[in-house]
Amino acid sequence: MKEQTLALIKPDATAKRYEGKIIDDILKAGFEIKAMKMLHFDKAEAERFYAVHKEKDFFRPLVAFMTGGPVIAILLEKENAIEDYRRLMGRTDPGKAAAGTLRKKYGETTRRNAVHGSDSPENAKKEIAFFF
Ligand code: UDP
Ligand code: MG
Repeated sequence: MKEQTLALIKPDATAKRYEGKIIDDILKAGFEIKAMKMLHFDKAEAERFYAVHKEKDFFRPLVAFMTGGPVIAILLEKENAIEDYRRLMGRTDPGKAAAGTLRKKYGETTRRNAVHGSDSPENAKKEIAFFF
């Protein structure tokens, strides 16, 4: 059965004009784009999007990073989309991400790692509703 997930192209990647390359990789991996928009998070929106991490020591710098430039939200559809997009994205730390993954190719650091992807059906549903 087809499944949906939410991808974000983060401010580090839009600053480097990587959005075209990232979208091309996503399409070549067999995902269908059902909706897409560019926006600029304000502080409250970034805090709400990453609310699950509010107790973490990296929460403040993460919110600062995510409000530092435009992001692109993309609603993706494919069989097994959540797991397959997490695999395409690669590990959180681009230095540990597998060759060919989006984070390996376009990420800089554990924080500035180019892309986001939903990690579960529950969170995919919430994150899709956040944007679309
Ligand atoms: N992050 C960070 N420092 C860390 C871990 C994560 O700044 O030590 C940022 C990074 O941008 C990451 C996001 O917080 O993508 C969410 O963290 P999570 O552990 O959920 O990683 P993900 O699911 O994005 O791989
Ligand atoms: Mg996560």
